[in-house]
Amino acid sequence: MSHRTGRSAVAAEPPSAFDVPPTVIAILGLPELTKLTDDQVRGADCIWCKASLTADTAVDFGEQTSPAPWSTSVIGMRWYPRACPNCTADRAHRGLLDHAPDCADCRKQPAPGAPTQCETARALYRLVREGRR
Ligand SMILES: [Zn+2]
Ligand SMILES: [Zn+2]
Repeated sequence: MSHRTGRSAVAAEPPSAFDVPPTVIAILGLPELTKLTDDQVRGADCIWCKASLTADTAVDFGEQTSPAPWSTSVIGMRWYPRACPNCTADRAHRGLLDHAPDCADCRKQPAPGAPTQCETARALYRLVREGRR
């Protein structure tokens, strides 16, 4: 029974409503198609830990096009990576640690503790927060 009542109609938008920018997806590092199962390719399972996903919790990376090694097509194959919030938060956290020292936008933070002006870092922070909810 998963019937929901009350405030859910006006609840905050689910994580999947958040479009993860391509630069952030690159930092998170999607696995290669060859290493994935069919369920992972179509977005049913987490691309990292293979956990089954539900629409409520999955982080959606949108439609991706990657070259498929078994195909001679230069256009690539379309696939639909999704991940569980835990894996995403984990990777976003590590991505932030790697990204910030090399990013000019991150370094020119207006004041200590002020929100960063860097869009990439903000998106990564958001993924970390959502995964730890
Ligand atoms: Zn996972
Ligand atoms: Zn940055």
